[in-house]
Amino acid sequence: MPIRLLDERVIGKIAAGEVIERPASALKELVENSLDAGATTISVAIHKGGTGLIQVVDNGSGIPAAELPLALQRHATSKLTTWDDIQRISSLGFRGEALPSIAAVSDFSLRSRTADASVGTDLDVVYGVARPPRPAAAVHGTRVTVRDLFGNVPARRKFLRQAGTETTIMVRSIAAYALARPDVSFQVTVDDRRSFATDGRGDEIAAAVAIWGTEIGPAAIALPELDAAGAVPGVMVAGWIGLPEITRSHRNSLLFFVNGRWVQNRTLIFALEEAYHSLLMVGRHPVGVVRIQLDPAMVDVNVHPTKAEVKFVDERSVARAVSRAAHRGLSEARPNEVPEVHLRDSSGNSSQQSNRPLEFRPSTGERVWGASPLGDGAGLSPRPFEPSDRDVAELPVPGVRSTAATSAQPEPGSDVAFTPRPVPVLRVLGQVNGTYIIAEGPDGMFMIDQHAAHERVMYERILADMQGKRIDRQPFLDPMIVELTHQQFGAFERSTAELEAIGFQIDEFGPQTVAIRAMPAMMRGVNIGDRLRLILDELAEGGTGESWLDAVAISAACHTSIRAGQALSLAEMRELVAQLEQTDQPRACGHGRPTMLHLSQGELERQFSRR
Ligand code: ADP
Ligand code: MG
Repeated sequence: MPIRLLDERVIGKIAAGEVIERPASALKELVENSLDAGATTISVAIHKGGTGLIQVVDNGSGIPAAELPLALQRHATSKLTTWDDIQRISSLGFRGEALPSIAAVSDFSLRSRTADASVGTDLDVVYGVARPPRPAAAVHGTRVTVRDLFGNVPARRKFLRQAGTETTIMVRSIAAYALARPDVSFQVTVDDRRSFATDGRGDEIAAAVAIWGTEIGPAAIALPELDAAGAVPGVMVAGWIGLPEITRSHRNSLLFFVNGRWVQNRTLIFALEEAYHSLLMVGRHPVGVVRIQLDPAMVDVNVHPTKAEVKFVDERSVARAVSRAAHRGLSEARPNEVPEVHLRDSSGNSSQQSNRPLEFRPSTGERVWGASPLGDGAGLSPRPFEPSDRDVAELPVPGVRSTAATSAQPEPGSDVAFTPRPVPVLRVLGQVNGTYIIAEGPDGMFMIDQHAAHERVMYERILADMQGKRIDRQPFLDPMIVELTHQQFGAFERSTAELEAIGFQIDEFGPQTVAIRAMPAMMRGVNIGDRLRLILDELAEGGTGESWLDAVAISAACHTSIRAGQALSLAEMRELVAQLEQTDQPRACGHGRPTMLHLSQGELERQFSRR
């Protein structure tokens, strides 16, 4: 074939392949454009994994009607004129390639109106062929509608993953911007259902809670500003990171932004994880949103077609700044890494010194510890101490281990070392708050979290059944039909085989709907429809565990266990404690939270000033 210049449309399709790899890349470019246009609200709608529809509506500056056709030409941008501008670029876009690339491979429509225009303009481009612009009634801002993405590039379509997976990737990328820009309100719907919404009021933790869930709130540590001694000149680090309790098995929930641009950078990840060092279990990763500001001249943003990577002039110093900020944040948040029982005096203030006896108030109940079983857990009032809501404390209690060290082996010299089993035989006394079982052991008192304990029991039974290949299934006469959100459905698709392995039988029943045909017999008695959603929510978040099978087992055990706040009879509590004693690792639930706290005889005596 003789050498020929390619025609515009072919060039467009080839170039589009570089910039627009998958629906999420198109969406990312559109959201970046909205942010560059100064939008304060951005609404995103996704249908069918992005191949049906991607629509982004913003209230930004809009594009003047006269410039509209230009916006759709390759290398047309309002953000840069000279090469030097790239060195100082503060906008997210600069290549002028996104809109023409998307328009080359979709049924594309742009509607925009600037603040001073009385009317808006529509411009349609069908697989690279532009129609003449026409006036349209429009509100101030820009709306981009992308239908049938890759409809003219069947090869690219074939490489896309299942719609649910593409959607997850898309939602993740908008979520990233929503996390980095809490001052912008994002509304995201997937197949006409709300995925998440942020309020745009500027609170980054509130944005994280809206996107990643309420557990983030109390566990987020704002990265502190470093003082002159600790600061790395020219590099500012802000944002937040999570306490080591809320780790993930993946790194999708750890985001870095450099001058507002979401970037992937292994050096920064390692710098941050290093700050956690021993606080993270192997294979676990922190969550957080780290925003780095530095002189634009110190970073090259033009090294990657989708701008996902950047090059730092001095990467080491950026890494150092991240690691120092994280380290400082963590050590301020937790002066003591070990979860311990927190004793308070009767005024509710924390006791400051571990060996200072608590203020004594005479008890009205004349009960003696361990003298007789207390059927209802009463007789402890007025309570001279109480475990705090959070496990952070000043008073070390032997035998209570950190979540980071939940091995079955007793610590040398610990109070339980005398028994071959890691948990001594316990005598149940009662229940507190419908949540904690109080028991007496050979050395003092044990407080057991009934949910965590049951979770551990269920988890080990699931594992034992799987190993022994004797899974006891309980089939349903009529399948239970459960409707799922797209995230839950995505997690289901990913976990079907594992759910089957632990004793479920669940089939796809319709779009985002499943039919539960059988459940593990050991989970009898729980409303499995509701619990399945909780299991899938957790798995959609990444789950916890050595393997995916493990993550599914842990989550299933957790969400089918007795809950906190459920009153138990003495017999039920005894049964549960007996089962817990039989487990291999009775001291932590599958998620690594402690199942029990111990207040030793010696500690009790110290607190009551008996010695
Ligand atoms: P780039 O963002 O690299 O400049 P794009 O192809 O993404 O290139 O966009 C081309 C131009 O269209 C932008 O420079 C901007 O002027 C204009 N534009 C695109 N999207 C918007 C929007 N949502 N609001 C205002 N202007 C926009
Ligand atoms: Mg752009």
